[in-house]
Amino acid sequence: MTGDFSDVAESNADFVATFTGQNVRGLPAKNMLLLTCMDCRIVPHQALGMSIGDMKVIRNGGGQLNSAVESDIVVANNVLDCDRILIMQHTQCGMAAATLETVRATIQSNTGVDASQFTPSVIENQMAKLSLDVETLRKNPMLKSTTVVQGAMYHVETGKVEFLDD
Ligand SMILES: [Zn+2]
Repeated sequence: MTGDFSDVAESNADFVATFTGQNVRGLPAKNMLLLTCMDCRIVPHQALGMSIGDMKVIRNGGGQLNSAVESDIVVANNVLDCDRILIMQHTQCGMAAATLETVRATIQSNTGVDASQFTPSVIENQMAKLSLDVETLRKNPMLKSTTVVQGAMYHVETGKVEFLDD
């Protein structure tokens, strides 16, 4: 069965055996929130030199801002000490490679369901979308005025985080 999680449970038992995070606070020590893609090649804490308790992470397909994500960020900024917001897309992103047509066709092929009205948020132009998301967040009046919002591109080929100019 591909749905078996016994390997994961075993790994967690090892984690618990050596766990040292008992006294880590729920507020991020680095005052940071990362919004990035669900891509399995991005291991956020490792890539950014973060440890447990250092930053909050929101992930979705493409690392995209939407109303739900924006709402969470407003809360994280005002209530949870996230004063630095990094929006990080990445090279070879599946959400940028996919088209609505191919996604719909695949779903219909896999499930038999009519997916013609399904509208996942595929990315037509990564840099345009990233710039738009950064600008949108910067203009959000419910973020503290001292908040820093930064865009970045993660290169899955090298591990390099390219911080974008404004
Ligand atoms: Zn991606």
